[in-house]
Amino acid sequence: MRVGIGYDVHRLVSDRKLILGGVEISYHLGLLGHSDADVLTHAIVDALLGAAALGDIGTHFPDTDDRYERMDSLIFLADAAAKVRQCGYRIENIDSTVIAQRPKLAPYISEMRARLAKTLDITETQVSVKATTAEELGVVGEGKAIVAHAIACLSRL
Ligand code: ZN
Repeated sequence: MRVGIGYDVHRLVSDRKLILGGVEISYHLGLLGHSDADVLTHAIVDALLGAAALGDIGTHFPDTDDRYERMDSLIFLADAAAKVRQCGYRIENIDSTVIAQRPKLAPYISEMRARLAKTLDITETQVSVKATTAEELGVVGEGKAIVAHAIACLSRL
């Protein structure tokens, strides 16, 4: 067994869509970033790459590369899963937490799990997504950013 952790944070701004776990969330702000800035998917990519000691999202998909501008982050996720499998690992499970003061994410969790599981070619029972607030503390609590944490467990194929 091997485990990896992932962490990411993106700033909330106007004139951007809010995409989390590949799902578009109805909100008046969105996350700022070079790609679609899907903070949850980015944390999961880092957890997968980390579990296989393959570096991080920045080395594989640099934000200086114009090919990745406004990119659907699920493409990064599918690519990370392929790299992990090429190294001889199977994805056992993913757990993750999104920390957002607003909006309420509960209505979107099952769709995020379905979207992530499909992209990773694993079952929804192998993908956990949890959401919490920051109790109005710090930049996340002030609604200026969204944070995501993820952990991935791999086994030898
Ligand atoms: Zn990111």
